[in-house]
Amino acid sequence: VLRLSNVTKSFGATQVLRGIDLEVNEGEMICLIGASGSGKSTLLRTINLLEPIDEGEIWFDGQDISLPDVAPQPIRRKIGLVFQSFNLFPHMTAVENVLLAPSRVFKRSKKDLLPEVMQLFEQFNLKDRMQAYPDQLSGGQQQRVAIVRALAMRPRIMLFDEVTSALDPELVSEVLDTLLKLKAQNMTMILATHEMGFAREAADRVCVLDGGKIIETGTPDQIFNAPQTKRAQAFLASVL
Ligand code: ATP
Ligand code: MG
Repeated sequence: VLRLSNVTKSFGATQVLRGIDLEVNEGEMICLIGASGSGKSTLLRTINLLEPIDEGEIWFDGQDISLPDVAPQPIRRKIGLVFQSFNLFPHMTAVENVLLAPSRVFKRSKKDLLPEVMQLFEQFNLKDRMQAYPDQLSGGQQQRVAIVRALAMRPRIMLFDEVTSALDPELVSEVLDTLLKLKAQNMTMILATHEMGFAREAADRVCVLDGGKIIETGTPDQIFNAPQTKRAQAFLASVL
């Protein structure tokens, strides 16, 4: 579905991504782990074309989307990105938040979209919260609505950037359960996460970033039980 080769990105004089190679297959869940500042968020943002890259290629569905003449909007619709902060519109109910983008983009009436959107709310146990405003929802519910909003665009891939790190500890698991549900539906996903337990349990593949490079990649078992590089060993020792 997605293949990055030699992706390089600098902010001014600082090289933030240094030759990233990554291949993501249909239905795979990949977890990006690594110290703060290692480049996880920047990597996700380049895939979503929020940051132009300096060198390398990003192939998505048979197209090099890193070329300068590629229009970002149609690509972004197919690559959902959910952040740490949920960014729901406060003056709209949950369901209005979810209907907004697909009704504009697909030029379909909200009424027409409602059945499929309701189904998403139902799938993620939010049906009774559809008419609530964001400030009437818990953090976990808001984050799940934000995920539903991204899914309403029918993306091919979902990117998640630390989607649980702004949540109270007791709300983390409901959002992680949502991710597991998506995985069970064969959604292709890339997650930047500090939740090592989740990465260990749920990832098909784990990539360790360090200084803008993927220094190690493997199954959770390989990465957590037998990391090969000194840097990965040091990082894991600091977080486990
Ligand atoms: P964290 O775990 O804290 O979220 P991260 O792995 O997501 O960290 P990034 O946010 O990708 O790391 O940042 C990588 C490096 O790029 C950092 O040194 C950061 O300061 C720098 N950086 C990120 N965005 C910008 C920007 N817009 N302008 C300048 N430097 C930036
Ligand atoms: Mg980050």
